[in-house]
Amino acid sequence: MSDLGRASAFSRVIHLAAQRAVHEAFQWMHLQEPRIMDWQAELVAIAAPPFHEEQRAAWLADRFRELGLDQVEIDSTGNVLGSCPPSVAPEAGWILLSAHIDTIFPPGLPIRPKREGSRLQAPGACDNGAGLAGLLAIAAALKAIAESAIVLPLQRGILFAGNVGEEGDGDLRGMRHLYLQPPWRGRIAANLVLDGAGHEIVVSQALGSRRFMVTITAPGGHSWTDAGTPNPIVLLSTVISRLSELKLGESPRTTMNVGTIEGGTSVNAIPESASARFDFRSTDAEQLIRLEVELHRAVEDVVLAANRQVLRGNGPGGAKGSAKVVGFAIRKIGDRPAAALPEDAKILEALRAVDRHLGIRTELRTASTDANIPLSLGIEAVSIGAGGDGGGVHTYAEWYDSRDRETGLRRILLLLLALAGSAD
Ligand SMILES: [Zn+2]
Repeated sequence: MSDLGRASAFSRVIHLAAQRAVHEAFQWMHLQEPRIMDWQAELVAIAAPPFHEEQRAAWLADRFRELGLDQVEIDSTGNVLGSCPPSVAPEAGWILLSAHIDTIFPPGLPIRPKREGSRLQAPGACDNGAGLAGLLAIAAALKAIAESAIVLPLQRGILFAGNVGEEGDGDLRGMRHLYLQPPWRGRIAANLVLDGAGHEIVVSQALGSRRFMVTITAPGGHSWTDAGTPNPIVLLSTVISRLSELKLGESPRTTMNVGTIEGGTSVNAIPESASARFDFRSTDAEQLIRLEVELHRAVEDVVLAANRQVLRGNGPGGAKGSAKVVGFAIRKIGDRPAAALPEDAKILEALRAVDRHLGIRTELRTASTDANIPLSLGIEAVSIGAGGDGGGVHTYAEWYDSRDRETGLRRILLLLLALAGSAD
C-alpha cells in the first residue's frame, strides 16, 4: 500500500469519526451497555448446540424485528438475517456483519449464566455471546441514529446475520449457504465476522482443515475359535501409526490429529469394525490435498495386504479363502478451505486507519473461522473480536467481561461505515 493510500484511508476515517451521526452512535453504545449485557446474558441462556440452533435463532430474529431491521427472516439453513438497505440506487455489493450463533456444547446441558458486575460466566458467554451481543449493539446503534433523523447515507447496504454451523461438525454450513445460494450469492462485497471478545486481534488468514472418518470392517468372530480373522482395530492402528510417521512442515505449518477412535464389542470378540476421526490442518491448501492422498494410500495398502493374507489362507479364521473380507470407508466430515487476505486488501487498509485513529495496535493472525468461506471465494473478510475481555473459551468455566467493550464496538462501527462508504 502506498503512503498516499494509507494517508487517504486515515483521512476518510477522521472525516467519518467527526460526523454527528457517528458521535450519536458512540453515545448510544456508551449509555446502553446494561442493555447490551442483558441481551448477552439472555441469549447465552438459550442452548445452541451444533445443528440445533433453532431456539437461539428465533430469539435473535425477534430482536432484529424489535430493532426495526428490514426483511428479517430465518433462511432454510437456519441463519437469521436482517438488513439496512443502501441509501443510494443502484445496489452496490453489500457489507455483511455476521456472528455465529452455535456453541460447541452438547444438547441437554443446563446453562445458568452467572452475572457479577461487568462479568458474565456461562458456557458460550464469550464464544459467541460477545459476538452476538456486538452484532445487536451495532444494529441498534445504527437504527437509533436513523430514528433521530440524522443523515448517514450508506453507499452499500449492511446485511446482519446470526449464522449457524461455525463450530466443529457444523463445517461452516451457515456461511456456505449465504455465499453459495440465492438470494445472497454474488451480492456480498466484504464481511466482518464478529467472534469472541477483544479489540486487538484480527484473523486475516484462513487456516484450512479437512476431516475424515475412516472405518475398517471385517467379519469379526470369537477370539479363540476364529483367531486369525483380520482384526479391524489392529488394521486401523497400523494406518494410524503409518500416518504418524509422516513429516509435516513448519512452513507452511501443517498438522494432523487423530481425535477419536472407536470399535469392538467385547474383550473376547474379534471386532467387526473400527473407526477413527482425523483432522488435518494447514495454511496451504496443497498440503491438505497431500495429506488426503496419504490417508487414502495408507488405508488402501493396509486393507489390501489384509485381504491378500486372507486369500493365502493364513490363520484358521472362518473367512479363509474368500477375497475382500476386509472393507473400508473414508468419509469426508469437514472441509474448510485455506486462504489469505492480500496485504493490500481494502479491508486491511480501512482497519489500519481505524485502529490508528483509536490508538489500537492490530495483530494479524491465522485461524479457522467463518471468514474461511468468503476468503476462499476471493471476497475480503476478517474475523474480529467484539470488544471486552473473555477466557476459558470452549470450557464450562467460560467467562466474559464487558469492561471497555465500547472500544471494540467503536472499532467495528467505524470499520463497517468505512466499508459501507458513508464518509463520502
Ligand atoms: Zn466462535
